[in-house]
Amino acid sequence: MAINRRNLILAAGSLAANAAPVFTAPGRTQAAEPPTRWTLEADVVVVGSGASGFPASIVAREAGNSVILVEAQPHTGGHGICSGGNVPLGGGTRRQRQYGIEDSPDLVFRDLTDWSVVEGNGSADYRYNDREIIRAFADNNVATFDFLEAHGVVFVDEAPNPQGGESVGNSVPRENHAAVMDWPMVQTGRPADPAVRSKLSSGNGLILPLEAAAHKAGVQVLTGHRMTEVYRRESRSGPVLGIAVDNQGRRIDIRSRRAVIIATGGSSGNVDFRRMFDPRLTEEYCGIAGMPWSDQDASGEMAAMAIGASLWGACNYTGEFGFKITKAGAIGAQYIYSNLRWEPGSPVFHLARAIGLRVRDWQNLILVNMLGRRFYDETAPQYSANNYDVVQPYTYASWRNLNAVPYKPRAFIDAALQGIGDGHNGGGPIWAIFDSAAAAREQWTPRPPYVDYDQGFFFSANSLADLARSIRMEYQRLPMQPETLEATVRRYNGFVDAGADADFDKPSPRYKIAKPPFYAAWATPVVHDTRAGLRINGKAQVIDMHGAIIPRLYACGEAAGGFSQHGLARATCQGFIAGTHAARETQA
Ligand SMILES: Cc1cc2nc3c(=O)[nH]c(=O)nc-3n(C[C@H](O)[C@H](O)[C@H](O)COP(=O)(O)OP(=O)(O)OC[C@H]3O[C@@H](n4cnc5c(N)ncnc54)[C@H](O)[C@@H]3O)c2cc1C
Repeated sequence: MAINRRNLILAAGSLAANAAPVFTAPGRTQAAEPPTRWTLEADVVVVGSGASGFPASIVAREAGNSVILVEAQPHTGGHGICSGGNVPLGGGTRRQRQYGIEDSPDLVFRDLTDWSVVEGNGSADYRYNDREIIRAFADNNVATFDFLEAHGVVFVDEAPNPQGGESVGNSVPRENHAAVMDWPMVQTGRPADPAVRSKLSSGNGLILPLEAAAHKAGVQVLTGHRMTEVYRRESRSGPVLGIAVDNQGRRIDIRSRRAVIIATGGSSGNVDFRRMFDPRLTEEYCGIAGMPWSDQDASGEMAAMAIGASLWGACNYTGEFGFKITKAGAIGAQYIYSNLRWEPGSPVFHLARAIGLRVRDWQNLILVNMLGRRFYDETAPQYSANNYDVVQPYTYASWRNLNAVPYKPRAFIDAALQGIGDGHNGGGPIWAIFDSAAAAREQWTPRPPYVDYDQGFFFSANSLADLARSIRMEYQRLPMQPETLEATVRRYNGFVDAGADADFDKPSPRYKIAKPPFYAAWATPVVHDTRAGLRINGKAQVIDMHGAIIPRLYACGEAAGGFSQHGLARATCQGFIAGTHAARETQA
């Protein structure tokens, strides 16, 4: 079902019945035999209806092709619709010119390939970018911006700025913000307050106009259709012929006369796949940002790899920069990415189950591992971001900028993923421990719908010992010993008395944990976006492991690798590029 301005609120009820998302591991890793008969066919078949899939389908359709867009979930939008709608497109856009900002494709290219740009923690996030992919991106920024505006996206009328962006280049401001307007928000199930409609940046304001434009153009959108295979004439040679799709257990084979475009998003929700890049990312990192609206199950990457596709830019997957692995922004629920709150009106609230308690001041709690031991300064930040204004002073293309950035690892995430020394990978659950005085200071309501007692993401007890004993859930491999938690809190309370944290240098520990009831809230790091995926070239064509193009197969957005940039500009622009070139393939 497509969600649009009119039916989203009505949809909430019916979605509840059938919205079980497809979070199973993708299937085979060997090529499937192409069918002799096809169920459906179109010139261009696009897989995934998010930030890259909609632009790809609209462009291909408006070039005169028939287009089928398949979407695994019962609803469209992917992570794009859950996003903050911050879209860093530059290169001399209409909006940049309007506000006197001088930019050019060359400057975008040079910014995003500058070896010497480092983030606040000393990590370099542009150094490993593929030059051909960045050149294509830089050259298509303005066209993509124009395309989005022409297809109904309203950007907040203000000068592009550094707000909400990361890895967007350090020379000039490029961040635009898609205004939510009167589109209903998937996070709440209702439109935003009219007072902020033209100012609030939201992925709803980006995706819902594009969805409407896709329908208007005649793209055939099939929700609840999950691609399971990409067919190639021979398992490792010849052109791509189409895809297989699972629709509620029914298999459908869809022929593509010109091309298949993989726009399935990233792979951060597939535990085995993500562990190829970082073995620490074990099962307990179960609160992927953007879930439960849509998964990132690597099905696009794996289907393409089964016919020979290569991965690209793998080092970007877990480099210590950006928001790929984040500190929990809230606590006490499974889905606690800092910029996303699922409210009871959301069509997927029954899957999210709780809103979470947003943390304003990390002085109000301690964080402990599954054994009940502290591991780092709770107030420490996560990995940093890189955009205009972050590195100061900044002289364009000067290696001397490095001198302004003392190397300082922001080690919170690494400490949280350290593990407990028993030979297992992964850090295990991280629990926020606090007392009722902290709950009062933060104005938290430690009850549903804010916290998830039922699935074991929140516990309370009148003593610390009982609290430790009560912690039982899927990822708590070992019981927390009551005496360990009591000793941890006793020691921490001593630090509050002393005014100094002798273990982790938390600045002036402020509050003792002393007033029952006591609480333990899930605060495990969140895996966010994916910055490595299928190898593509500047036309978004997928490349195999021998460096050859896989004919008639394209990939874009988080399913594609070689480009270390968070999100929407990369996704929309590469969707635009993929749709443009797929549309020009000769018809089979
Ligand atoms: C909470 C949040 C906030 C964000 N905020 C920002 C921001 O402000 N600025 C920014 O630049 N980026 C932001 N991002 C990142 C940005 O949303 C993503 O990078 C972007 O949406 C990726 O686009 P995509 O098309 O690759 O994937 P998606 O938008 O996720 O779309 C992929 C679609 O493919 C579908 N799919 C997957 N597998 C299959 C299959 N086998 N068959 C059929 N369909 C399939 C999925 O269900 C999904 O609908 C944010 C992300 C999140 C989660």
